[in-house]
Amino acid sequence: MTGKLQRVPSVAAEDNGPRLEVHNPANGLVVGTVPNLSADDVAKMAAELRAAQPEWEELGPHGRARHLLNWLDWVVDNEDHLFGLVHREAGKSWGDAALELMVCMEMINFVTKNGAAFVKDESRRIHGPASFNKRLLVHRKPYQLVGVITPWNYPLGMPMMDVPGALMAGAAVLSKPSEVTPLAWAEAVRAWNEEIGAPRVLGCATGAGDTGRAVVEEVDYIQFTGSTKTGRAIGVRAAERLIPASLELGGKDAMVVFDDADVDRAVAGAVWGGFFNAGQSCIAVERVYVQDGLYQQFVDKLVAEVEKLRVGHDAQGEFSADYGAMATDNQMAIVEGQVADARDKGARVLTGGKRSERGLFYPPTVLVDVDHTMSCMRDETFGPLLPVMRFSTADEAIDLANDSPYGLSGSVWTASVERGRQLGNRIDTGGMNVNNALANVFQIPLPMGGWKQSGLGHRFGGPNMVQKYMKQQAMVTERLRLKGEIYWYPYVLKKSRAVDRVLRLTGLHDWRRRLGRAPKPSS
Ligand code: ADP
Repeated sequence: MTGKLQRVPSVAAEDNGPRLEVHNPANGLVVGTVPNLSADDVAKMAAELRAAQPEWEELGPHGRARHLLNWLDWVVDNEDHLFGLVHREAGKSWGDAALELMVCMEMINFVTKNGAAFVKDESRRIHGPASFNKRLLVHRKPYQLVGVITPWNYPLGMPMMDVPGALMAGAAVLSKPSEVTPLAWAEAVRAWNEEIGAPRVLGCATGAGDTGRAVVEEVDYIQFTGSTKTGRAIGVRAAERLIPASLELGGKDAMVVFDDADVDRAVAGAVWGGFFNAGQSCIAVERVYVQDGLYQQFVDKLVAEVEKLRVGHDAQGEFSADYGAMATDNQMAIVEGQVADARDKGARVLTGGKRSERGLFYPPTVLVDVDHTMSCMRDETFGPLLPVMRFSTADEAIDLANDSPYGLSGSVWTASVERGRQLGNRIDTGGMNVNNALANVFQIPLPMGGWKQSGLGHRFGGPNMVQKYMKQQAMVTERLRLKGEIYWYPYVLKKSRAVDRVLRLTGLHDWRRRLGRAPKPSS
């Protein structure tokens, strides 16, 4: 497959324009190329998607679910091909690449199973006797064109977290994968348009930041996952265009381990949460705080477990490496910079701490004697570092966890679930786990979103997964046919007084005011 040109991945891309090369960061080999779309190409694609959308909406939720399930079948039937692209374009271990299949299944199954209930009109009870004659409904209508812009860390899994929900809502979707890892997603979109007989309501705009900017110009709703810097720029543009934006941005998730925690589970959780996908997840464990009494035991066990991890780009289907390459030179530079800064300020590296000679591999690294003056404790790492810091009291741990501009998710580890919940509630993050790491992101019924600089809005959250891509129309109808409303024109003294009395009688909470007998304030 090396060097093979991808077929046109989108509904309208020109096949003879400029192209982008995609490299495997593990070995530098070219994996494929994709079109580098201009703003005009994106506008053309958006117009085609808009033209196809009404028919898609008309299909209804059951019809749409059929196409989504056909797509899932195609993904599974072609998994070696598709996840092989993920494996190579991101330089992942095969295990990390193969796990993205779970995301495809979970998301498509959830929206196809529940979509019909999520999109249908919803009746609401009236509030107050003045509305006795009203019937209330929330009617939902999809945004016609939803943009989904994603980063490079989960080439297939990341767009799959948002695109099925938007399609189930009845929207057309203009997706934009990262220029670093566009191949697997472009292939999945090609399959939607060419292999399964679905309406052409899913586009893939490949390219870099300028292509992403053009996507934001064209759509009616923008869902973005990526850096806080880019997310802020998109949020500003969305505000100017007055379109809604949902932004899932960076994180610096804290793991807080108390003396009474199950140390083996906590260590295993730290290893998984810190090093899964080479630490390149927004919800990765990025800093660990351990209480005095458990600190030394935790650190010893952590180092022993970390040293068992196998780093490499194993062959497809082999499962012989735990995590693979850093995706870009830039990511490698951030990790190296944070380790150098920590060392300069007095931190000790207990294991790891030096990149490998060949390929973009960085070993799992444990740092101790760290503090909040160091960039490894303040700035997003997105790499295989676990800095561990000691604390004494719960208040101190909460203060440390909250000493961050980010607020994505985190975890508390303790024998008492109740105590864990209460302490977790005091940490300012959009997600929290007790005795687990990363687990909240797999719970589709719960909202996933960041506080502070980690984002705006949320994905998932049960019905929200689909309904966020729909406008709401408040529909009011009359139960009985009356000639008019009593408060309509003309205002007549007797009638208006009667209305006023009824209003007070039914709308106030103490008898004196209900009967108009409350003392007037003295001026
Ligand atoms: P990273 O992928 O390193 O987190 P970004 O947040 O910049 O970095 O990128 C995430 C996605 O946003 C990518 O698909 C990228 O091409 C796209 N992108 C970058 N800049 C912009 C922009 N100004 N407007 C829209 N999309 C952008």
